[in-house]
Amino acid sequence: MKLLTIKKETMDSLGLQTEQGVIDIDQALEVYPNKEIPSCVMEVINNGEESLKLLENYIRALPENSSFLLGESDFEWGSAVPAPNKIICVGLNYRRHADETGASYPETPILFPKYNNALASHKQHITVPKVTEKLDYEVELGIVMGKNAKDVSKEEALDYVFGYVTANDLSARDLQFVSSQWLLGKSCDGFSPVGPYLVSKDEVGNPNNLNLRTYVNGEERQNSNTSDMIFNCEEIISYISKHMTLTPGDIILTGTPEGVILGHPEDEQNFLQPGDEVTVEIDKLGKLTNQFVGEK
Ligand code: MG
Repeated sequence: MKLLTIKKETMDSLGLQTEQGVIDIDQALEVYPNKEIPSCVMEVINNGEESLKLLENYIRALPENSSFLLGESDFEWGSAVPAPNKIICVGLNYRRHADETGASYPETPILFPKYNNALASHKQHITVPKVTEKLDYEVELGIVMGKNAKDVSKEEALDYVFGYVTANDLSARDLQFVSSQWLLGKSCDGFSPVGPYLVSKDEVGNPNNLNLRTYVNGEERQNSNTSDMIFNCEEIISYISKHMTLTPGDIILTGTPEGVILGHPEDEQNFLQPGDEVTVEIDKLGKLTNQFVGEK
């Protein structure tokens, strides 16, 4: 199932992407009430498979061509995962990306945080902060947790996943390396767009064999596959869960492949500017597009 958030003035609502269009669950419930149906993405994540089954049965019974069906350009998108407890990122996790930056392969996952101020949605305009002149893109597979996971094995790790999102780990390179901690360069407002959809894991299958791509103003910049990851999804979840409890809705950004601006020779590094449009795309998860604007 492909879940999404429809932004509204009072309270955002749950949307489902279907072959007929996007179903606005709030509007559908007004016509066909059902108290059991969840009203936001976080509620679906928290109740997991039970919620998915309820939604599946509910939308199957809805008539087609109804007022609650929207086109993808008929509404403002909210973040595909609106309120995670944690956003944990893995650095230098693709072999060819480590090669292009001249870094050696890490022996354990390199972890750093982002916070909810960084969340952004599909089509949201993202401000290029005045404090950076070196803004870079990073397409990444985002794992969204579905259950509390503490000290889980690699073998059982994917049982704790709810689904996956396309993400862009925006990175201000001049801030990232101003100290030994990467936090500053990774955590400005809007530096973590995710979406457009949160796709439940049953629609994705093996997360360790997905193509992922980045386009800047329509030009392809990254094109790789999650099979190039140094630590795969199971290993990342198991490793993190040995140190802290992962909870439903937590997002793990699993690293980016080669093709980032930082990987180019210094005289060919044309960093992102206001006016640029970046699209990141992952098989089965959809295309996430954002335009950049200057800071006033
Ligand atoms: Mg990254």
